[in-house]
Amino acid sequence: MTYRVTLIPGDGTGPELVEATRRVLEATGVPFEWDVQEAGADVMDKYGTPLPEAVLDSIRKNRVGLKGPITTPVGTGFRSVNVALRKALDLYTNLRPARHIKGVRSHYENIDLVVVRENTEGMYVGIEHDVIVGEAAEAIRIITRKGSERIVRFAFEYARENGRRKVTAVHKANILKTTCGLFLGVAREVAEQYPDIEFEDRIVDNMCMQLVQRPQEYDVIVTTNLFGDIVSDLCSGLVGGLGMAPGANIGDGIAVFEPVHGSAPKYAGKNKVNPTANILSGVLMLRYLGEKDAADRVQNAIAAVVAEGKNVTYDMKPTRDDPTAVGTSQMADAIIAAMNTA
Ligand code: NAD
Repeated sequence: MTYRVTLIPGDGTGPELVEATRRVLEATGVPFEWDVQEAGADVMDKYGTPLPEAVLDSIRKNRVGLKGPITTPVGTGFRSVNVALRKALDLYTNLRPARHIKGVRSHYENIDLVVVRENTEGMYVGIEHDVIVGEAAEAIRIITRKGSERIVRFAFEYARENGRRKVTAVHKANILKTTCGLFLGVAREVAEQYPDIEFEDRIVDNMCMQLVQRPQEYDVIVTTNLFGDIVSDLCSGLVGGLGMAPGANIGDGIAVFEPVHGSAPKYAGKNKVNPTANILSGVLMLRYLGEKDAADRVQNAIAAVVAEGKNVTYDMKPTRDDPTAVGTSQMADAIIAAMNTA
């Protein structure tokens, strides 16, 4: 069976990362047919929008997408394509595993965390306006029972299916008593239906401190949109940085895989940044498709390349200006070679 997958190269460093990922996935022998779709800042002039309807139609049809990062202007300009895509397709779960790979320079070992971030509501609904221009502005945060219930349920189901022991709900219900209060209340209700999985909750600021001091104590973390964005970047820092952190946006019978990191525009076109996060997002896609053997082979090949420490990008070397660092495509070559010799 050939898998037809929507492939979105994105912008900035996206196209080179997606090309590296495509090559590694094809080297597994799993048959893919790529439906390449353009989105992002670079297509504004051509289509008048950074997210042409054809992109959404393609994902709706194929049910699976793989994407590179897409730039969002800061402060002004168009709204995030990434957020719009998640919302339009109701990809309500943002799954962000953070797992230490032997050989990665980091303060910790034995880290195996999963952040389950709500992906369609919270502060990301984008309802904000000036109250008095230049003096006061207001944003609205939306939390619903439905949105909270389905994300917490996803976290517990994920824990059950993947042999995890504990789910931690992260919130700020001491201050945001109504919105976070609703999220936490629903989380407690859902937790009662999963007596086999331990449940606890943490206030987000305390959670950040605890993750830095005792990350091994945590397992599956479920939280609202903005907290999930921040906490998952923190977790990527625990396992070697954004170059190592994959992600998946999952709805009901539909999913788009992409790294946690952004488009790192200053390195665009330089064959410089680490392709691991994007390739590991491809591994999540292989698992989602049921291609466990291929997923394991890519994961083992990445582990071998990282453990050897030779054919890795600058961010994985002892110093950032290490002359032995290789480029994005050379690291992908090394992963393919490791897969073929395993
Ligand atoms: P960023 O993730 O692009 O970069 C943050 C830091 O991490 C930079 O130092 C960068 O060089 C480094 N980095 C990122 N990816 C790396 C990789 N693969 N290998 C090695 N180092 C890597 O975040 P930013 O600078 O805050 O954002 C840049 C743009 O990306 C913004 O427009 C932002 O909106 C967008 N963004 C997009 C997504 C997405 O497409 N899902 C996610 C986050 C940010």
